Amino acid sequence: LSSRASTILHALDIRSDSELAGVYDGEWTGSGEILESVCPTTGEVLARVKSATPAEVERALERSREAYKVFRTVPAPKRGEILRQIREALAAKRDDLGALVSLEMGKIRTEGEGELQEFVDIADYAVGLSRMMNGRVVASERPGHSILEVPNPLGVVAVLSAFNFPVAVYGWNLALSLAAGNATLWKPAPSTPLCSIAVTKIVTSVLEKNGVPGAVAGLVTGGKVVGEAVVGSSDVDMVSFTGSEAVGREVGKVVQGRFGKVLLELGGNNAAIVMPDADLDMAIPAVFFGAVGTAGQRCTSTRRLYLHSSIVQKFLSRLESLYQSVRPGDPLDRSTLLGPLHTRAAVGIYHDAVDHLLKTGAEILTGGAPYTDLPAPLNGGNFVRPTIAIPQEVNVKDPVWSTETFAPVLKVGVFDELEQAIEWNNGVPQGLSSSLWTRDIRNVGKWIGPVGSDAGIVNVNVGTSGAEIGAAFGGNKSTGWGRESGGDAWKQYVRWSACTLNFSDEAPLAQGVQFSN
Ligand code: NAD
Repeated sequence: LSSRASTILHALDIRSDSELAGVYDGEWTGSGEILESVCPTTGEVLARVKSATPAEVERALERSREAYKVFRTVPAPKRGEILRQIREALAAKRDDLGALVSLEMGKIRTEGEGELQEFVDIADYAVGLSRMMNGRVVASERPGHSILEVPNPLGVVAVLSAFNFPVAVYGWNLALSLAAGNATLWKPAPSTPLCSIAVTKIVTSVLEKNGVPGAVAGLVTGGKVVGEAVVGSSDVDMVSFTGSEAVGREVGKVVQGRFGKVLLELGGNNAAIVMPDADLDMAIPAVFFGAVGTAGQRCTSTRRLYLHSSIVQKFLSRLESLYQSVRPGDPLDRSTLLGPLHTRAAVGIYHDAVDHLLKTGAEILTGGAPYTDLPAPLNGGNFVRPTIAIPQEVNVKDPVWSTETFAPVLKVGVFDELEQAIEWNNGVPQGLSSSLWTRDIRNVGKWIGPVGSDAGIVNVNVGTSGAEIGAAFGGNKSTGWGRESGGDAWKQYVRWSACTLNFSDEAPLAQGVQFSN
């Protein structure tokens, strides 16, 4: 193993000289198919992980259920105290875990650490929530009666996560789910098993120190087959799925088919709209970060840019020079802004998208070609040039505009009226993030109101990419309508009961119904 990799793994107690156990159900086990963790920056194999067999998935689910039965009786503020300790344990390893995210996923150092910060933030939030997951007392129409709406723990929550946020998405779900009194079972992306093993070790050691079964936060690594086994199991009360629209569509049907609860966080196809009165000193760097940051591998990455006709030249020439200034590098190096794509397959998807743009007559303003002159060891990595393309026309029904390409390819369209730009913004199947750049309050009113953006995230003078944990995060339409993290998202992780209590000496029926002569 290279010294850069072994230092990071060593700091997190991950021994990569033998195959690693990729299942945690109270004990570390795993005897299924071997997953290779491959560094996207160099192509180096970091470790080999033994994933879950079908029998191991079943056992992990049984252990999760047993753990839930213990955990549901722990008072919520006590669960919050355990979460506080998890938050402290993660914060102590923030830099090491952040480096592991960069090593294994490929995002740059500050973003890897940002994922850990997000986990810490949502844990803080959930500690507070553990004393505020309140129900309601509802006025009854019957004398001497009272109605309570009571939230109780839900059961076992399965968290299936995508490669691009190998830590934070789990954090969002784990924190709310633990505060709510559930057991979770995590099925991470098969290409980031080390992140999931490192995080699970930290979380479960805190649980066990508190006398709580470790299986409250179980782990089953594996690919599609393991994912299908988890999603299809009636032992899972809620499936929280983050990933592509194609897989999410199937997952949604399977969970609905067995009347389970499902929360979907799927693909985005996010647009930024820039008005003539926008502050370009703010808008241009924001679009640059949105489209090129994380090498275009965020669900909220900016993929479409709609520019008012009066600012096109000015905007694009400045954006282009930012693109040309960016150099690919090792994401672990703090000066790097552009890391690799996560997999070789993603490089193919990037090239297919560029080929399709060229074939359909788009102008490639910058990028479009691979890097051919990278020094070793980066020549073993999945680096692609960030690309700006101007298709011949904006036709939101065309796949050029209507599909999410998970790579740094930004498409540009030109408009004269805000109404036109909003129509294009809303014309695609996805509805995750959107951003308007203007200083005119009348535009803002249109944008955030009934005739405005139909996305789940509707920003003004803030880019499409990234979000704070305080508000509910998620998207509409084919992004799946899910909401995670802040806001009212916690309400999905509990089961609600309406409890009518009669304190009187009569037993009247609702609506004054009489059932006696
Ligand atoms: P993916 O859909 O390929 O995989 C997601 C997860 O599903 C993985 O854990 C995978 O192993 C599992 N899986 C695959 N087939 C399955 C099946 N048939 N049944 C059950 N599970 C199965 O997604 P990806 O390539 O890892 O991630 C990129 C996608 O995720 C992008 O579309 C991105 O926009 C989306 N994403 C969305 C959000 C959001 O919050 N909306 C956040 C991050 C990523």
